[in-house]
Amino acid sequence: MGLSNGGPILISLEGEVMLLDIAKEGWLDRAACRDADNPSIWTSGSQKDSREAKRLCNTICPVRSHCFKWAMENNENTGVWGGLDTKERKELFY
Ligand code: SF4
Repeated sequence: MGLSNGGPILISLEGEVMLLDIAKEGWLDRAACRDADNPSIWTSGSQKDSREAKRLCNTICPVRSHCFKWAMENNENTGVWGGLDTKERKELFY
C-alpha cells in the first residue's frame, strides 16, 4: 500500500479516494511500508516492485494479517496489501 508518514492517508478504493485514518486503524503505526525508503513499490503495479513489496510484507511486517483483513473487507483493488497483489486477492473470492 505504501503509507505516508503520519496523519490520515489517501487510498484509492474502486476508483475513489478515501481516508484511512491511522488513529482509527491502530495497526498502521506498525506497518513496515510506513517508513519504507521506497513506498511506491506497493503501488506502482510493476511486477518487479510488487515482488519486492510482497517479500517485505511477508518477511518483516508485523501487521500483515491486519492489513490483509482490511484490504479484503474493503475490497481494495489497487496495490499490494497483506503480502498479496490485486490479482492474488481477487482470486481468493473465486
Ligand atoms: S502487510 Fe505490507 S502493505 Fe500491509 S502494512 Fe505490512 S508492509 Fe504495508
